Order: sequence, then C-alpha cells, then structure tokens
Amino acid sequence: MLLGILKETAPGETRVALLPESLKSLLAQGIQITVESGAGIASGAYDQAYTEAGATVTTDRASLLATADLLPLVNASGAADQASLKPGAVVIGFLKPLDAPHALATAIARPTTLFSMELVPRISRAQSMDALSSMATVSGYKAVIAAADRLPRLFPMLMTAAGTIPPARVFVIGAGVAGLQAIATARRLGAVVEAYDVRAAAGEQVRSLGAKFLDVDLGGISAEGGGGYAAELTEEALDRGRDLITRTAAHSDVIVTTAQVPGRPAPRLIRRAAIEAMRPGSVLVDLAAPAGGNCELTQPGVEQNINGVVLLAPLNLPAEVPVHASQLYARNILNFLALIVRKGELSVDLSDEVLAGACVAHNGSPVNPRVAKLLEAATTS
Ligand code: NAD
Repeated sequence: MLLGILKETAPGETRVALLPESLKSLLAQGIQITVESGAGIASGAYDQAYTEAGATVTTDRASLLATADLLPLVNASGAADQASLKPGAVVIGFLKPLDAPHALATAIARPTTLFSMELVPRISRAQSMDALSSMATVSGYKAVIAAADRLPRLFPMLMTAAGTIPPARVFVIGAGVAGLQAIATARRLGAVVEAYDVRAAAGEQVRSLGAKFLDVDLGGISAEGGGGYAAELTEEALDRGRDLITRTAAHSDVIVTTAQVPGRPAPRLIRRAAIEAMRPGSVLVDLAAPAGGNCELTQPGVEQNINGVVLLAPLNLPAEVPVHASQLYARNILNFLALIVRKGELSVDLSDEVLAGACVAHNGSPVNPRVAKLLEAATTS
C-alpha cells in the first residue's frame, strides 16, 4: 500500500499532514510512503528528514496522486487533483464537507472514500483524533499573542521606580476550547481576564483559570445544545449577551471572541457600539471569522482599523504556528489511521461509530446524510 503526503496548495497554508516523526509505525507495517518534495518545509520538516525516516521524496505530484492508496491531507485539494486520484483511494483531512460539499464532487465520483476530520465524533474514544480541538487550542493561544503584539500597552502589571503600570484587561467571548486557551494564555502574560459564554457549565472552567465569569440571565432559556455545544439562541436571548458585551468592551483593552454554534453561521454578538466604546489602540480578534464572525463589522480575512480600534479576523491562525500545529494534527491523523489500517492494509469498517461519523463518501455516494442533502439540493436547484 502506498501512502502519499502532498504539499498543501491552499494560499497561506503552511501545515503538513504527517511529519517525519509520524512515519515509524506506518513503515513498520510495510506501508510505502512517498512525500511530495517541499511538503514539510514550512513546518521545519525538510525532504531529507522524510528520506532519513524511510520515505521516498518525489517532485511528481501527478503520479503521486494517481498511485497513492491513502492520502492524509490538511485541506481538500482542488478538482484537478481530485480527478487524478486513484479510484478506491482513501482521503482524510479538513474537507469542509458541510461548508463546501460540491467542492468534493469530483473525488466522490472518482470514486474515493473521504473522511473529514471536522466530522470525527467528539466522544471519549475519539479524543486523540479531535483535530478541531487541536487547532482551536493553537488558535486561542495565537490570538492572544497577536493581540499582545498589536496592543500599544503592556499585558502584565509592572511596579517600577518610574511608577506602576496597570495590567491589560482582556475579555474572552465563548469559553470553549479556543476561548479557554486564550484565557490561559492571557493570564500567563499577566492580564486581568473576564469571560462570557452562554453555557453556564463553562463558568467553572473559566474561574479555574483565574478569570472572572460574566453571567447573563437568559430568562430561563436553555443554552446547552447536544455534546457540550451551545444551542442557537433567540434574538432576545442574544440581545442580553450583546448588552453585556457592549458594557464590558468599554473597559477592555483586548477582546478575543470565539463563539460558535456547530453547523450555523457564527452568532453576531458584538455590535458597532461595542467597538466604538473601546479605547483607541484596543484590539479585537474575531476567531469566529471563518464562520462569518461574531462582530457585525468583521470582514473575514481582512484587518481593519475602526476609529483606532484594530479588528483582526484571521482565517487560519494554526498556519501561523506550523511546527506545533502540524505536530498536533499529525498525531490526530496517525490515531485516525490506526482505525483504518490493519497490518499494512486498508480495512475500512463503516460500522465503527467514529468512522461512520467521519465518513463523507464511500463507493461513489455520500455517506453523511447532511452532505447528501446539501449535494442533492445543489443538483435540483
Ligand atoms: P465551539 O467552537 O462550537 O464554540 C465556542 C464557544 O462559543 C462554546 O463554548 C459555546 O458555548 C460558545 N457560544 C456559542 N454561542 C454563544 C453565544 N451566543 N454567546 C456566548 N458564547 C457562545 O465549541 P468548542 O470550543 O469546539 O467546544 C465546546 C464544548 O465542547 C466545550 O464544552 C468542550 O469542552 C466540549 N468538547 C468536548 C470534546 C469531547 O468530548 N471530545 C471535545 C472538544 C470539545
């Protein structure tokens, strides 16, 4: 069996799906591994390191696509790549099956078996494959570092002979995986941190990191969706959060906002008035930008200066920390591969709950019912 590691082609992507250190257990099973030249450079993994680990390096992307039985990726590759895939190949990555299912149509028809890392069920057994959490952890950290870098103030309180500098005040909205890492990072830098989440359960975790949890009375509405996620709120309930956010923004130097509801556009929580209430020089990092953003002024991927307030809306922060983002992602991929590779051969058992949940398409048809519905809607409209 041949496993291929491709150089990612999405603009600004620096991560790689597997690092040289990931290959040992795969090679030990007799799997051949071929790496596209340059695939790991941005993550500090040079071609030579892959060769030394036992892989072959090629510059011939087309023949790698045509011969690989197994292709772990970071992002889905384009239609031209998909058209060259070996029929029956297994492709795994952040395939965006719910955001852009039609972009996978060529690979589905080839046919190939597609697994999406976004769809890996968040159950205990699959925690080691939870690439969304891995990347959210990196994003939460990097958002605070980016904000600290842009802020014209210091984060920690300093008591010097020249006087005392007060600590920066950081407000984190959404205390899920990214938000909690943002809180921890801001606390480590010495900031005073407040956080808000609709899920009351997040309060204890926020407080355990030394931050203050801001509660909103939602008038008895349950904000808990399934699986630890938030539910989509009514406009009235959202408004209560928006009011709290506007009040808190006025004394915050930095806002990191991460609020998301799975499968829905990000809730619009930050009004223009909240930005206008912030001091010039303050920084807002909207980590929900890939889902449209939490701030009504956010333009995904665009940096703005609104009356002196810097609004960052990054689309791929993990790519700015490629070494560790790739390391975490590669471990998630390796753990996933352990479910579909037995003794060096592909063995895909779709009765396995994790594989069934993550499978987008198999044998030429979509397996995931939500993807099937989206594709059907696109062909009938
Ligand atoms: P996410 O990215 O979907 O959302 C981020 C946060 O935004 C969540 O905490 C959510 O409650 C919050 N939010 C949504 N709407 C909001 C609103 N209107 N106002 C304020 N906040 C709002 O979530 P996530 O970070 O991926 O994970 C969320 C939960 O899932 C956490 O409880 C986490 O512990 C749990 N989780 C479980 C597993 C597992 O069991 N394997 C893995 C990862 C995460």
